Amino acid sequence: MPTYVYKCPKCGKFEVVQNMNDKRLETCPTCNEKVKRLISGGLGVIYKTDGFYITDSKNDKSDHAAS
Ligand SMILES: [Zn+2]
Repeated sequence: MPTYVYKCPKCGKFEVVQNMNDKRLETCPTCNEKVKRLISGGLGVIYKTDGFYITDSKNDKSDHAAS
């Protein structure tokens, strides 16, 4: 399952493991502030599952993220 990174204004960044079909979080589970989901450059992190890796476009960002 993918891990999503959210940012809460109070708690800072936190990660949530969610199903692809799950709704994104609107509020922080800890303090109920509104959170933003970060679309970070770390796609490699989000989809780092054994045997499954998106490498359609070589030498795109995935190279840095992968190491
Ligand atoms: Zn919070």
